[in-house]
Amino acid sequence: MTVNPTGAPPAPRAPGPAGPLADVLARLREVQASGRTRPLPWRQAQLRGIERLVTEREGEIAASLARDLGRSAPEAWLGDIASTAGEAAFARKHLHRWTKRQKVRLPLMHLPGSGWVQYEPLGVVLVIGPWNYPVYLTLAPLVAAVAAGNCAVVKPSEVAPATSALLARLIPEYLDREAVVVVEGDAATTQELLALGFDHALFTGGTETGSKIMAAAAPTLTPVTLELGGKSPVIVTRDADLGVAARRIAMGKLLNSGQTCISPDYVLVERAVRAELVDRIVAAVARFRGGSPGEGLPIVNERHFDRLTGYLEATLGTVVTGGSANRASSTMHPTVIVNPDPNEPVMSAEIFGPILPVLEVSDVDEAIRFVRARPKPLALYVFSESLSRARRIVDAVPAGGAVVNHVAMHCLVPQLPFGGVGPSGMGAYHGKWGFQQLSHRKAVLSKTARPDLKLLYPPYTRRALAVLRRLF
Ligand code: NAD
Repeated sequence: MTVNPTGAPPAPRAPGPAGPLADVLARLREVQASGRTRPLPWRQAQLRGIERLVTEREGEIAASLARDLGRSAPEAWLGDIASTAGEAAFARKHLHRWTKRQKVRLPLMHLPGSGWVQYEPLGVVLVIGPWNYPVYLTLAPLVAAVAAGNCAVVKPSEVAPATSALLARLIPEYLDREAVVVVEGDAATTQELLALGFDHALFTGGTETGSKIMAAAAPTLTPVTLELGGKSPVIVTRDADLGVAARRIAMGKLLNSGQTCISPDYVLVERAVRAELVDRIVAAVARFRGGSPGEGLPIVNERHFDRLTGYLEATLGTVVTGGSANRASSTMHPTVIVNPDPNEPVMSAEIFGPILPVLEVSDVDEAIRFVRARPKPLALYVFSESLSRARRIVDAVPAGGAVVNHVAMHCLVPQLPFGGVGPSGMGAYHGKWGFQQLSHRKAVLSKTARPDLKLLYPPYTRRALAVLRRLF
Protein backbone atom coordinates (compact mmCIF):
# COMPACT_ATOMS: atom_id res chain seq x y z
CA MET A 1 0.00 0.00 0.00
CA THR A 2 1.24 3.52 -0.70
CA VAL A 3 0.56 6.37 1.66
CA ASN A 4 0.44 10.00 0.61
CA PRO A 5 0.71 11.98 3.84
CA THR A 6 0.74 15.40 2.14
CA GLY A 7 -2.56 14.87 0.39
CA ALA A 8 -1.04 16.49 -2.71
CA PRO A 9 -1.75 14.80 -6.02
CA PRO A 10 1.00 12.31 -6.85
CA ALA A 11 3.45 13.17 -9.65
CA PRO A 12 2.38 11.44 -12.88
CA ARG A 13 5.61 9.46 -12.98
CA ALA A 14 8.78 9.09 -10.98
CA PRO A 15 11.43 11.61 -12.07
CA GLY A 16 13.26 10.26 -15.12
CA PRO A 17 16.82 10.68 -16.25
CA ALA A 18 18.28 14.16 -16.71
CA GLY A 19 19.20 15.73 -20.05
CA PRO A 20 17.75 18.09 -22.64
CA LEU A 21 15.06 15.61 -23.80
CA ALA A 22 14.12 14.87 -20.20
CA ASP A 23 13.75 18.62 -19.64
CA VAL A 24 11.48 18.91 -22.69
CA LEU A 25 9.31 16.11 -21.36
CA ALA A 26 9.22 17.57 -17.86
CA ARG A 27 8.00 20.92 -19.24
CA LEU A 28 5.32 19.20 -21.32
CA ARG A 29 4.16 17.30 -18.25
CA GLU A 30 3.80 20.58 -16.40
CA VAL A 31 1.73 22.07 -19.24
CA GLN A 32 -0.41 18.93 -19.32
CA ALA A 33 -0.91 18.99 -15.55
CA SER A 34 -1.98 22.66 -15.69
CA GLY A 35 -5.11 21.58 -17.59
CA ARG A 36 -4.47 24.04 -20.42
CA THR A 37 -4.80 21.41 -23.18
CA ARG A 38 -8.15 20.03 -22.00
CA PRO A 39 -10.72 22.66 -23.08
CA LEU A 40 -12.32 22.19 -26.50
CA PRO A 41 -11.26 25.63 -27.81
CA TRP A 42 -7.58 24.75 -27.24
CA ARG A 43 -7.97 21.48 -29.11
CA GLN A 44 -9.87 23.12 -31.95
CA ALA A 45 -7.25 25.84 -32.26
CA GLN A 46 -4.53 23.19 -32.66
CA LEU A 47 -6.56 21.34 -35.28
CA ARG A 48 -7.15 24.58 -37.16
CA GLY A 49 -3.43 25.27 -36.83
CA ILE A 50 -2.63 21.94 -38.55
CA GLU A 51 -5.10 22.73 -41.36
CA ARG A 52 -3.58 26.19 -41.82
CA LEU A 53 -0.03 24.86 -41.67
CA VAL A 54 -0.54 22.48 -44.59
CA THR A 55 -2.71 24.77 -46.72
CA GLU A 56 -0.86 28.07 -46.21
CA ARG A 57 2.59 26.47 -46.56
CA GLU A 58 1.73 24.07 -49.42
CA GLY A 59 4.52 25.49 -51.61
CA GLU A 60 7.24 24.95 -49.02
CA ILE A 61 5.93 21.49 -48.17
CA ALA A 62 5.84 20.45 -51.85
CA ALA A 63 9.39 21.79 -52.30
CA SER A 64 10.73 19.82 -49.32
CA LEU A 65 8.96 16.65 -50.50
CA ALA A 66 10.47 17.13 -53.95
CA ARG A 67 13.90 17.50 -52.38
CA ASP A 68 13.59 14.47 -50.08
CA LEU A 69 11.62 12.10 -52.28
CA GLY A 70 11.51 13.54 -55.80
CA ARG A 71 7.74 13.79 -55.35
CA SER A 72 5.65 15.74 -57.87
CA ALA A 73 3.48 18.65 -56.71
CA PRO A 74 0.15 16.84 -57.49
CA GLU A 75 1.27 13.81 -55.45
CA ALA A 76 2.42 16.11 -52.63
CA TRP A 77 -1.02 17.69 -52.59
CA LEU A 78 -2.91 14.39 -52.66
CA GLY A 79 -0.66 12.36 -50.37
CA ASP A 80 0.42 14.89 -47.76
CA ILE A 81 -1.56 18.11 -47.92
CA ALA A 82 -5.21 17.30 -48.76
CA SER A 83 -5.03 14.13 -46.65
CA THR A 84 -3.71 15.99 -43.58
CA ALA A 85 -6.07 18.95 -43.94
CA GLY A 86 -9.03 16.55 -44.36
CA GLU A 87 -8.15 14.60 -41.22
CA ALA A 88 -7.72 17.79 -39.13
CA ALA A 89 -10.93 19.40 -40.44
CA PHE A 90 -12.95 16.23 -39.78
CA ALA A 91 -11.69 16.05 -36.19
CA ARG A 92 -12.36 19.77 -35.62
CA LYS A 93 -15.95 19.43 -36.84
CA HIS A 94 -16.78 16.31 -34.83
CA LEU A 95 -14.76 16.88 -31.69
CA HIS A 96 -17.65 18.32 -29.73
CA ARG A 97 -19.66 15.10 -30.19
CA TRP A 98 -16.70 12.76 -29.59
CA THR A 99 -15.84 14.38 -26.26
CA LYS A 100 -19.35 14.11 -24.83
CA ARG A 101 -19.57 11.73 -21.94
CA GLN A 102 -21.42 8.56 -22.86
CA LYS A 103 -24.11 7.57 -20.42
CA VAL A 104 -24.76 3.88 -19.77
CA ARG A 105 -27.90 2.17 -18.41
CA LEU A 106 -27.29 0.78 -14.96
CA PRO A 107 -28.58 -2.61 -13.82
CA LEU A 108 -31.39 -2.46 -11.26
CA MET A 109 -29.19 -3.28 -8.26
CA HIS A 110 -27.00 -0.24 -8.96
CA LEU A 111 -29.93 2.16 -8.87
CA PRO A 112 -30.32 4.88 -7.82
CA GLY A 113 -27.22 6.22 -9.52
CA SER A 114 -25.84 6.96 -12.91
CA GLY A 115 -22.90 5.74 -14.95
CA TRP A 116 -20.94 7.08 -17.86
CA VAL A 117 -17.71 6.91 -19.81
CA GLN A 118 -15.71 10.09 -20.15
CA TYR A 119 -12.77 10.53 -22.49
CA GLU A 120 -9.70 12.05 -20.90
CA PRO A 121 -6.30 13.02 -22.29
CA LEU A 122 -3.63 10.38 -21.74
CA GLY A 123 -0.93 12.98 -21.03
CA VAL A 124 2.11 13.37 -23.27
CA VAL A 125 2.10 11.36 -26.50
CA LEU A 126 5.13 10.54 -28.63
CA VAL A 127 4.53 10.54 -32.41
CA ILE A 128 7.24 8.77 -34.43
CA GLY A 129 6.89 9.43 -38.16
CA PRO A 130 8.11 7.58 -41.28
CA TRP A 131 9.70 9.11 -44.40
CA ASN A 132 7.31 7.97 -47.13
CA TYR A 133 4.48 10.47 -46.44
CA PRO A 134 6.48 12.47 -43.95
CA VAL A 135 3.90 15.23 -43.46
CA TYR A 136 0.65 13.23 -43.47
CA LEU A 137 1.95 10.32 -41.40
CA THR A 138 3.45 12.66 -38.82
CA LEU A 139 0.63 15.22 -38.61
CA ALA A 140 -2.39 12.83 -38.82
CA PRO A 141 -1.29 11.07 -35.60
CA LEU A 142 -0.77 14.55 -34.13
CA VAL A 143 -4.39 15.36 -35.07
CA ALA A 144 -5.49 12.43 -32.90
CA ALA A 145 -3.13 13.46 -30.09
CA VAL A 146 -4.30 17.08 -29.81
CA ALA A 147 -7.96 16.22 -30.49
CA ALA A 148 -7.73 14.06 -27.38
CA GLY A 149 -6.22 16.97 -25.42
CA ASN A 150 -2.69 15.64 -25.12
CA CYS A 151 0.66 17.34 -25.24
CA ALA A 152 2.95 15.79 -27.83
CA VAL A 153 6.53 15.22 -28.85
CA VAL A 154 6.79 14.80 -32.62
CA LYS A 155 9.80 12.94 -34.04
CA PRO A 156 9.78 13.18 -37.85
CA SER A 157 11.84 10.76 -39.95
CA GLU A 158 15.49 11.61 -40.51
CA VAL A 159 15.26 9.85 -43.90
CA ALA A 160 13.28 12.87 -45.19
CA PRO A 161 15.57 15.58 -43.72
CA ALA A 162 14.21 18.64 -45.57
CA THR A 163 10.66 17.81 -44.48
CA SER A 164 11.80 17.04 -40.94
CA ALA A 165 13.49 20.47 -40.73
CA LEU A 166 10.43 22.16 -42.23
CA LEU A 167 8.09 20.54 -39.68
CA ALA A 168 10.45 21.58 -36.89
CA ARG A 169 10.20 25.19 -38.15
CA LEU A 170 6.47 25.31 -38.94
CA ILE A 171 4.86 23.36 -36.09
CA PRO A 172 5.85 25.96 -33.43
CA GLU A 173 4.52 28.70 -35.73
CA TYR A 174 1.04 27.17 -36.02
CA LEU A 175 0.55 25.17 -32.83
CA ASP A 176 0.91 25.86 -29.11
CA ARG A 177 4.70 25.66 -28.83
CA GLU A 178 4.56 24.92 -25.13
CA ALA A 179 2.38 21.86 -25.67
CA VAL A 180 3.69 20.39 -28.96
CA VAL A 181 7.44 20.02 -29.43
CA VAL A 182 9.34 18.70 -32.44
CA VAL A 183 12.47 16.67 -31.74
CA GLU A 184 14.54 15.88 -34.83
CA GLY A 185 16.83 12.89 -34.92
CA ASP A 186 17.38 9.28 -35.88
CA ALA A 187 16.82 5.89 -34.29
CA ALA A 188 19.11 6.73 -31.35
CA THR A 189 17.06 9.86 -30.57
CA THR A 190 13.85 7.82 -30.72
CA GLN A 191 15.34 5.26 -28.34
CA GLU A 192 16.43 8.05 -26.00
CA LEU A 193 12.92 9.51 -26.07
CA LEU A 194 11.25 6.14 -25.46
CA ALA A 195 13.53 5.48 -22.49
CA LEU A 196 12.01 8.54 -20.79
CA GLY A 197 8.55 6.97 -20.78
CA PHE A 198 5.46 8.52 -22.38
CA ASP A 199 1.74 8.11 -21.81
CA HIS A 200 1.49 6.66 -25.31
CA ALA A 201 3.68 6.26 -28.40
CA LEU A 202 2.21 6.15 -31.90
CA PHE A 203 4.73 4.74 -34.34
CA THR A 204 4.45 4.46 -38.12
CA GLY A 205 7.14 2.46 -39.88
CA GLY A 206 8.39 -1.00 -40.70
CA THR A 207 7.38 -4.17 -38.86
CA GLU A 208 10.94 -4.92 -37.69
CA THR A 209 11.36 -1.42 -36.29
CA GLY A 210 7.92 -1.74 -34.71
CA SER A 211 9.11 -4.59 -32.54
CA LYS A 212 12.15 -2.51 -31.46
CA ILE A 213 9.81 0.35 -30.55
CA MET A 214 7.65 -1.99 -28.51
CA ALA A 215 10.70 -3.41 -26.72
CA ALA A 216 11.97 0.11 -25.95
CA ALA A 217 8.53 1.13 -24.65
CA ALA A 218 8.18 -1.92 -22.38
CA PRO A 219 10.44 -0.88 -19.45
CA THR A 220 8.34 2.26 -18.84
CA LEU A 221 5.06 0.48 -19.73
CA THR A 222 4.44 3.07 -22.42
CA PRO A 223 1.41 1.83 -24.41
CA VAL A 224 1.99 1.73 -28.16
CA THR A 225 0.02 2.04 -31.35
CA LEU A 226 2.02 0.48 -34.17
CA GLU A 227 1.15 1.36 -37.76
CA LEU A 228 3.33 -1.09 -39.67
CA GLY A 229 3.71 -2.52 -43.15
CA GLY A 230 3.32 -5.83 -44.94
CA LYS A 231 2.46 -7.31 -48.31
CA SER A 232 -1.03 -6.09 -49.23
CA PRO A 233 -2.47 -8.46 -51.86
CA VAL A 234 -4.91 -7.76 -54.68
CA ILE A 235 -7.26 -10.58 -55.65
CA VAL A 236 -8.82 -10.25 -59.11
CA THR A 237 -11.65 -12.64 -59.97
CA ARG A 238 -12.56 -13.73 -63.50
CA ASP A 239 -15.73 -11.58 -63.47
CA ALA A 240 -13.92 -8.34 -62.51
CA ASP A 241 -14.02 -5.24 -64.70
CA LEU A 242 -10.44 -5.76 -65.86
CA GLY A 243 -10.00 -2.28 -67.34
CA VAL A 244 -10.94 -0.60 -64.08
CA ALA A 245 -8.91 -3.10 -62.02
CA ALA A 246 -5.81 -2.53 -64.17
CA ARG A 247 -6.05 1.27 -63.97
CA ARG A 248 -6.60 1.34 -60.24
CA ILE A 249 -3.88 -1.21 -59.46
CA ALA A 250 -1.40 0.66 -61.70
CA MET A 251 -2.31 4.01 -60.18
CA GLY A 252 -1.93 2.64 -56.63
CA LYS A 253 1.41 1.04 -57.46
CA LEU A 254 2.88 4.14 -59.10
CA LEU A 255 1.89 6.45 -56.25
CA ASN A 256 5.10 7.60 -54.52
CA SER A 257 7.02 5.02 -56.63
CA GLY A 258 5.24 2.21 -54.78
CA GLN A 259 6.73 3.43 -51.48
CA THR A 260 3.31 3.45 -49.83
CA CYS A 261 2.37 1.23 -46.90
CA ILE A 262 -1.00 0.38 -48.47
CA SER A 263 0.37 0.06 -52.00
CA PRO A 264 -0.98 -3.01 -53.82
CA ASP A 265 2.02 -5.28 -53.20
CA TYR A 266 1.19 -8.20 -55.52
CA VAL A 267 -1.74 -9.49 -57.57
CA LEU A 268 -3.40 -12.90 -57.51
CA VAL A 269 -5.60 -13.31 -60.57
CA GLU A 270 -7.75 -16.19 -61.81
CA ARG A 271 -5.97 -17.99 -64.65
CA ALA A 272 -8.71 -17.35 -67.24
CA VAL A 273 -8.15 -13.57 -67.15
CA ARG A 274 -4.47 -13.35 -66.23
CA ALA A 275 -3.18 -12.48 -69.73
CA GLU A 276 -5.78 -9.78 -70.32
CA LEU A 277 -5.25 -8.22 -66.88
CA VAL A 278 -1.47 -8.10 -67.34
CA ASP A 279 -1.83 -6.49 -70.80
CA ARG A 280 -4.16 -3.89 -69.39
CA ILE A 281 -1.88 -3.13 -66.42
CA VAL A 282 1.10 -2.70 -68.75
CA ALA A 283 -0.96 -0.38 -70.98
CA ALA A 284 -2.20 1.63 -67.99
CA VAL A 285 1.35 2.07 -66.65
CA ALA A 286 2.51 3.30 -70.06
CA ARG A 287 -0.43 5.74 -70.31
CA PHE A 288 0.13 7.11 -66.79
CA ARG A 289 3.81 7.62 -67.66
CA GLY A 290 2.88 9.77 -70.65
CA GLY A 291 3.42 7.09 -73.31
CA SER A 292 7.22 6.90 -73.10
CA PRO A 293 9.42 5.15 -70.53
CA GLY A 294 11.39 8.40 -69.90
CA GLU A 295 13.04 8.68 -66.48
CA GLY A 296 12.39 5.96 -63.96
CA LEU A 297 10.59 6.60 -60.68
CA PRO A 298 12.62 8.01 -57.78
CA ILE A 299 13.71 5.58 -55.03
CA VAL A 300 14.40 7.17 -51.66
CA ASN A 301 17.99 6.02 -51.04
CA GLU A 302 20.73 3.57 -51.93
CA ARG A 303 19.68 0.98 -49.39
CA HIS A 304 16.19 0.74 -50.85
CA PHE A 305 17.55 0.97 -54.43
CA ASP A 306 19.84 -2.02 -53.81
CA ARG A 307 17.06 -3.98 -52.13
CA LEU A 308 14.73 -3.42 -55.10
CA THR A 309 17.29 -4.17 -57.82
CA GLY A 310 18.14 -7.31 -55.83
CA TYR A 311 14.52 -8.44 -56.26
CA LEU A 312 14.81 -7.94 -60.04
CA GLU A 313 18.10 -9.84 -60.25
CA ALA A 314 16.72 -12.79 -58.29
CA THR A 315 13.37 -13.16 -60.02
CA LEU A 316 12.38 -16.40 -61.72
CA GLY A 317 9.28 -14.75 -63.22
CA THR A 318 8.83 -13.03 -66.59
CA VAL A 319 9.42 -9.28 -66.65
CA VAL A 320 6.78 -7.93 -69.06
CA THR A 321 7.49 -4.24 -68.62
CA GLY A 322 10.24 -2.20 -66.93
CA GLY A 323 13.02 -4.16 -65.27
CA SER A 324 15.68 -1.46 -65.51
CA ALA A 325 17.05 0.94 -62.94
CA ASN A 326 19.64 3.71 -62.77
CA ARG A 327 21.86 3.79 -59.72
CA ALA A 328 23.28 7.26 -60.42
CA SER A 329 19.84 8.89 -60.40
CA SER A 330 18.36 6.32 -57.95
CA THR A 331 15.42 5.63 -60.25
CA MET A 332 13.62 2.49 -61.35
CA HIS A 333 11.16 1.93 -64.18
CA PRO A 334 7.78 0.55 -63.13
CA THR A 335 8.12 -3.19 -63.47
CA VAL A 336 5.55 -5.97 -63.82
CA ILE A 337 6.71 -9.54 -63.15
CA VAL A 338 4.43 -12.40 -64.18
CA ASN A 339 4.44 -15.61 -62.15
CA PRO A 340 7.54 -15.18 -59.95
CA ASP A 341 8.32 -18.09 -57.65
CA PRO A 342 6.19 -17.64 -54.52
CA ASN A 343 9.31 -18.12 -52.39
CA GLU A 344 11.68 -15.72 -54.17
CA PRO A 345 12.69 -12.42 -52.47
CA VAL A 346 10.12 -10.22 -54.23
CA MET A 347 7.37 -12.43 -52.79
CA SER A 348 8.92 -12.79 -49.33
CA ALA A 349 9.33 -9.20 -48.15
CA GLU A 350 7.21 -6.06 -48.47
CA ILE A 351 8.22 -4.62 -51.88
CA PHE A 352 7.88 -0.89 -51.10
CA GLY A 353 8.89 0.10 -54.63
CA PRO A 354 7.56 0.19 -58.22
CA ILE A 355 7.55 -3.59 -58.81
CA LEU A 356 4.28 -5.48 -59.26
CA PRO A 357 4.32 -9.29 -59.24
CA VAL A 358 1.23 -10.90 -60.83
CA LEU A 359 0.60 -14.54 -59.99
CA GLU A 360 -2.11 -16.66 -61.54
CA VAL A 361 -4.26 -18.91 -59.38
CA SER A 362 -6.70 -21.59 -60.45
CA ASP A 363 -9.58 -20.09 -58.48
CA VAL A 364 -10.60 -17.79 -55.64
CA ASP A 365 -10.06 -20.51 -53.03
CA GLU A 366 -6.43 -20.89 -54.03
CA ALA A 367 -6.02 -17.11 -53.72
CA ILE A 368 -7.54 -17.17 -50.24
CA ARG A 369 -5.29 -20.06 -49.18
CA PHE A 370 -2.24 -18.22 -50.57
CA VAL A 371 -2.84 -15.08 -48.53
CA ARG A 372 -3.92 -16.93 -45.39
CA ALA A 373 -0.67 -18.90 -45.41
CA ARG A 374 1.30 -15.63 -45.04
CA PRO A 375 1.52 -12.89 -42.37
CA LYS A 376 -1.66 -10.84 -41.98
CA PRO A 377 -1.40 -7.86 -44.36
CA LEU A 378 -2.19 -4.20 -43.72
CA ALA A 379 -4.72 -4.08 -46.57
CA LEU A 380 -6.60 -6.46 -48.85
CA TYR A 381 -7.95 -5.45 -52.25
CA VAL A 382 -10.57 -7.41 -54.17
CA PHE A 383 -11.75 -6.73 -57.70
CA SER A 384 -14.98 -8.52 -58.60
CA GLU A 385 -18.32 -7.65 -60.16
CA SER A 386 -19.98 -10.10 -57.77
CA LEU A 387 -20.48 -8.44 -54.42
CA SER A 388 -21.15 -11.78 -52.73
CA ARG A 389 -17.87 -13.23 -54.06
CA ALA A 390 -16.01 -10.09 -52.95
CA ARG A 391 -17.62 -10.32 -49.51
CA ARG A 392 -16.65 -13.99 -49.23
CA ILE A 393 -13.01 -13.08 -49.88
CA VAL A 394 -13.10 -10.12 -47.48
CA ASP A 395 -14.56 -12.39 -44.78
CA ALA A 396 -12.04 -15.20 -45.38
CA VAL A 397 -8.80 -13.17 -45.44
CA PRO A 398 -7.54 -11.46 -42.28
CA ALA A 399 -6.17 -7.96 -42.99
CA GLY A 400 -6.01 -4.56 -41.30
CA GLY A 401 -8.53 -3.14 -43.77
CA ALA A 402 -10.08 -4.08 -47.11
CA VAL A 403 -11.25 -2.29 -50.24
CA VAL A 404 -13.52 -3.77 -52.90
CA ASN A 405 -12.96 -2.58 -56.47
CA HIS A 406 -10.30 -0.02 -55.60
CA VAL A 407 -6.99 0.25 -53.77
CA ALA A 408 -5.77 2.35 -50.83
CA MET A 409 -8.83 4.64 -50.72
CA HIS A 410 -9.98 3.44 -47.29
CA CYS A 411 -7.18 5.46 -45.74
CA LEU A 412 -8.86 8.68 -46.90
CA VAL A 413 -12.19 7.87 -45.21
CA PRO A 414 -11.98 9.33 -41.70
CA GLN A 415 -15.14 7.48 -40.67
CA LEU A 416 -13.19 4.18 -40.93
CA PRO A 417 -10.52 3.07 -38.45
CA PHE A 418 -7.09 2.73 -40.06
CA GLY A 419 -4.64 0.19 -38.71
CA GLY A 420 -3.09 -3.21 -39.14
CA VAL A 421 -3.54 -6.59 -37.52
CA GLY A 422 -0.87 -9.00 -36.28
CA PRO A 423 2.47 -8.13 -37.91
CA SER A 424 0.92 -5.24 -39.88
CA GLY A 425 0.20 -3.33 -36.68
CA MET A 426 -1.77 -2.90 -33.49
CA GLY A 427 -4.32 -0.25 -32.65
CA ALA A 428 -5.92 2.09 -35.16
CA TYR A 429 -6.48 5.79 -35.71
CA HIS A 430 -8.19 8.32 -38.04
CA GLY A 431 -11.35 10.21 -37.10
CA LYS A 432 -12.97 9.29 -33.81
CA TRP A 433 -10.90 6.09 -33.72
CA GLY A 434 -7.75 8.15 -33.32
CA PHE A 435 -9.40 10.36 -30.73
CA GLN A 436 -10.41 7.27 -28.74
CA GLN A 437 -7.03 5.58 -29.20
CA LEU A 438 -5.24 8.53 -27.60
CA SER A 439 -7.82 9.13 -24.88
CA HIS A 440 -8.39 7.30 -21.64
CA ARG A 441 -11.92 5.91 -21.28
CA LYS A 442 -12.64 6.72 -17.67
CA ALA A 443 -15.53 4.68 -16.26
CA VAL A 444 -17.55 6.66 -13.70
CA LEU A 445 -20.26 5.36 -11.41
CA SER A 446 -22.04 8.05 -9.41
CA LYS A 447 -24.16 6.89 -6.46
CA THR A 448 -26.46 8.68 -4.05
CA ALA A 449 -25.89 8.52 -0.29
CA ARG A 450 -29.44 7.28 0.32
CA PRO A 451 -30.93 4.72 0.46
CA ASP A 452 -28.12 3.08 2.42
CA LEU A 453 -28.86 -0.66 2.32
CA LYS A 454 -27.54 -2.31 5.50
CA LEU A 455 -27.48 -5.63 3.64
CA LEU A 456 -24.19 -4.66 1.99
CA TYR A 457 -22.28 -4.27 5.24
CA PRO A 458 -20.77 -7.11 7.26
CA PRO A 459 -21.37 -9.17 9.24
CA TYR A 460 -23.54 -10.93 6.68
CA THR A 461 -26.49 -12.86 8.03
CA ARG A 462 -27.74 -15.89 6.09
CA ARG A 463 -30.80 -13.91 5.10
CA ALA A 464 -28.73 -10.94 3.89
CA LEU A 465 -26.47 -13.25 1.86
CA ALA A 466 -29.48 -14.94 0.28
CA VAL A 467 -30.84 -11.54 -0.79
CA LEU A 468 -27.44 -10.39 -2.07
CA ARG A 469 -27.00 -13.58 -4.10
CA ARG A 470 -30.33 -12.91 -5.76
CA LEU A 471 -29.47 -9.25 -6.43
CA PHE A 472 -25.94 -9.65 -7.85
P1 NAD B 1 11.29 2.81 -40.28
O1 NAD B 1 10.76 1.71 -39.49
O2 NAD B 1 12.66 2.67 -40.86
O3 NAD B 1 11.35 4.22 -39.49
C1 NAD B 1 10.25 4.89 -38.97
C2 NAD B 1 10.68 5.74 -37.80
O4 NAD B 1 11.26 4.94 -36.80
C3 NAD B 1 11.68 6.84 -38.10
O5 NAD B 1 11.27 8.02 -37.42
C4 NAD B 1 12.98 6.33 -37.53
O6 NAD B 1 13.83 7.35 -37.04
C5 NAD B 1 12.52 5.47 -36.39
N1 NAD B 1 13.39 4.33 -36.14
C6 NAD B 1 14.02 3.57 -37.07
N2 NAD B 1 14.73 2.57 -36.48
C7 NAD B 1 14.54 2.72 -35.15
C8 NAD B 1 15.01 2.01 -34.00
N3 NAD B 1 15.83 0.95 -34.08
N4 NAD B 1 14.60 2.44 -32.79
C9 NAD B 1 13.79 3.52 -32.67
N5 NAD B 1 13.33 4.22 -33.71
C10 NAD B 1 13.69 3.83 -34.93
O7 NAD B 1 10.18 2.99 -41.38
P2 NAD B 1 10.29 3.79 -42.72
O8 NAD B 1 11.38 3.17 -43.56
O9 NAD B 1 10.34 5.25 -42.44
O10 NAD B 1 8.87 3.46 -43.40
C11 NAD B 1 8.68 2.33 -44.20
C12 NAD B 1 7.87 1.27 -43.50
O11 NAD B 1 6.81 1.86 -42.80
C13 NAD B 1 7.24 0.29 -44.46
O12 NAD B 1 7.32 -1.01 -43.93
C14 NAD B 1 5.80 0.74 -44.53
O13 NAD B 1 4.89 -0.26 -44.89
C15 NAD B 1 5.57 1.23 -43.15
N6 NAD B 1 4.50 2.22 -43.14
C16 NAD B 1 3.34 1.93 -42.50
C17 NAD B 1 2.30 2.83 -42.51
C18 NAD B 1 1.00 2.58 -41.82
O14 NAD B 1 0.22 3.53 -41.70
N7 NAD B 1 0.71 1.39 -41.35
C19 NAD B 1 2.47 4.04 -43.17
C20 NAD B 1 3.68 4.31 -43.80
C21 NAD B 1 4.70 3.40 -43.76
